[in-house]
Amino acid sequence: MCRYFSLSVTLRYIAVMTMLFSCSGHSGSHQKDIDYTKLRYVMVETQIARRDITDKNVLEAMRTVPRHLFVPEEFRDDAYRDGPLPIGHDQTISQPYIVAIMTQLLKIDSVSKVLEIGTGSGYQAAVLAEISDSVYTIEIIPALGRHADSLLDSLGYTSVQVRVGDGYLGWPEAEPFDAIIVTAAAPKLPQPLLDQLKVGGRMVIPVGQFSQELMLITKSEEGVVKESVIPVRFVPMTGEIQKRQT
Ligand code: SAH
Repeated sequence: MCRYFSLSVTLRYIAVMTMLFSCSGHSGSHQKDIDYTKLRYVMVETQIARRDITDKNVLEAMRTVPRHLFVPEEFRDDAYRDGPLPIGHDQTISQPYIVAIMTQLLKIDSVSKVLEIGTGSGYQAAVLAEISDSVYTIEIIPALGRHADSLLDSLGYTSVQVRVGDGYLGWPEAEPFDAIIVTAAAPKLPQPLLDQLKVGGRMVIPVGQFSQELMLITKSEEGVVKESVIPVRFVPMTGEIQKRQT
């Protein structure tokens, strides 16, 4: 079964590479775009599909969103590597695999209403918007929020709603959400976000300070179930939550 799977992944990889490498003969920025597309397909095959990401929508979204445009120009050629990258203001864009696993855990589809806390570069929001028609995202650092908003618009992700502010309080006018994704580490679960999650909804959030766990929270009529998924390392959630630690 396992060998079967890896054979099919390898065949898909060869097919994709053949297709991409046959697109030669271009020059300048068009050639560069093709190079980034190749790198992106290789990223998905080697870092995402070969690990435990099986959701077709997530794989397709990661093949589609031009990650290199979400990082500062000097890091473009590193955008498809297996790690996080700086995006300025002491913040980072997450490792591609972490974006993929968090998105997969949300189990969203086109009609899901999704809230992200921590817009950062806007990359995770774009991945969500490839799957879901209704994405809301909040960023506490105004310069990052404004930059992500205009980048998302210019790339055609016009349905993503970006707000500058403290995500601790969520987005009360748009609640309840089918899914909430927090991309900064919280010392504990933010109660307003739990309140804004639909019954049947899912929240993915890194919890902890020095040692952090990615937690999956599911909400049912009976209450909230918390599962630890993997150890992670995120930048801290700032703002109101830091005043509420005692
Ligand atoms: N999802 C982003 C990366 C997130 S980095 C991407 O795809 O690029 C974490 C982000 O969370 C940072 O931009 C940080 O400023 C933001 N953040 C931290 N605390 C926050 C809060 N209370 N509300 C909203 N955003 C917050």
